[in-house]
Amino acid sequence: MAEWYQEASDAIREDMIALSDSVFSHPELGYEEFASSEDHAAMLRKYGFTVEKPYLGLETGYRATYDSGKPGPRICYMAEYDALPGLGADGGPGHGCGHNMLGTAAVAAGIILSKKVAETGGSVVVMGTPAEETSGAKVRYAGEGAFDDCDVAIVNHPCIGGHMRSGRSLALITQEFVFTGKPAHAASAPEMGINALDAATVTNVAIGLLRQQTREDARIHGIITEGGLAPNVIPERVVMRFYVRAADRVYRNELLERVKNCARAGALATGCELTMSEFEDPYDDLMTNEALSAVMCGALKQVGVEEVRDPARSFGSLDAGNVSYVCPTIHPYFPIGTDPSVANHTREFAACTQTDFAKDNMMTAAQAMALAGYRVITEPETLKKIRDEFEAMPK
Ligand SMILES: [Zn+2]
Ligand SMILES: [Zn+2]
Repeated sequence: MAEWYQEASDAIREDMIALSDSVFSHPELGYEEFASSEDHAAMLRKYGFTVEKPYLGLETGYRATYDSGKPGPRICYMAEYDALPGLGADGGPGHGCGHNMLGTAAVAAGIILSKKVAETGGSVVVMGTPAEETSGAKVRYAGEGAFDDCDVAIVNHPCIGGHMRSGRSLALITQEFVFTGKPAHAASAPEMGINALDAATVTNVAIGLLRQQTREDARIHGIITEGGLAPNVIPERVVMRFYVRAADRVYRNELLERVKNCARAGALATGCELTMSEFEDPYDDLMTNEALSAVMCGALKQVGVEEVRDPARSFGSLDAGNVSYVCPTIHPYFPIGTDPSVANHTREFAACTQTDFAKDNMMTAAQAMALAGYRVITEPETLKKIRDEFEAMPK
């Protein structure tokens, strides 16, 4: 006889593939996921969840709950459904990060576990979290207490290769520099001008030199979004945008100060005015709860996954990082393809989400996520271990 998670998974498989494909077919950017979040909400309602939407003032956010009405832990699955610009077939948005599958895996896990909570007690939450790719809603959710009544939070991301256990991510902070100078004819009266583009050049050179003296995990990268209007006019206004990343928040903040000093040097050297501001929310580093991660790895084995790989050595930043500071969190990966030449954030990665291989693994991942939740609800000593580790974590 099939196990309960297998049976529940088979029963919803068609609906879940339809959900993933529907979100895939109308890709929407962060905070514009109107149709995608509606698809999610409709599916969760169909399976007996109570859906709060908008959530915390976000039109495309939601919180869906299935409560057994009996006491017990609350398991949270985090769903994402935003796309990336320029990666669609028509040059518009596309699911180059596979969030159509990420979101569906969370919905599926929630529904599978909901079939069991009448018996075990406790409750299941599927948290719809917009805009992971830009200014992720999880930052606001974490800040406003959305996870305070959740015992664990799980999000499972598509990848190439095999199932991978939860690892780390870089803390990130953004900074915009606006240099204001004075325009003048660049040939007939250059001495009358103050060149804002020169300030940006000094800034870039100073940051380039700074990179020699930073820790290995530091990443500083930026663009010029406004660089002057005409070659014969000394640029009056230049705007730069930077991301500053590091393995932990403390060093990230230290680095940001040094990057700001590089911009100050540019302003001083050229005589420009400088204003500085953050243009997106900062992301904290992901602190994987290893006790919860061990439960997830065990669940993967139980649902038939033979190998769970070690986390990748190179990684970016995740808004789930902020969640990990307020609730025991894991962020494992499930495979949607095996060709190592396919990179994340590409059209090819998006195309992988349309394969049977990906769909099978999405459902396997959902089963394991549900089973991990089931174990947290039914094994008090496991939950205690998870909580103890979380309490002992440096914050
Ligand atoms: Zn991405
Ligand atoms: Zn992603």
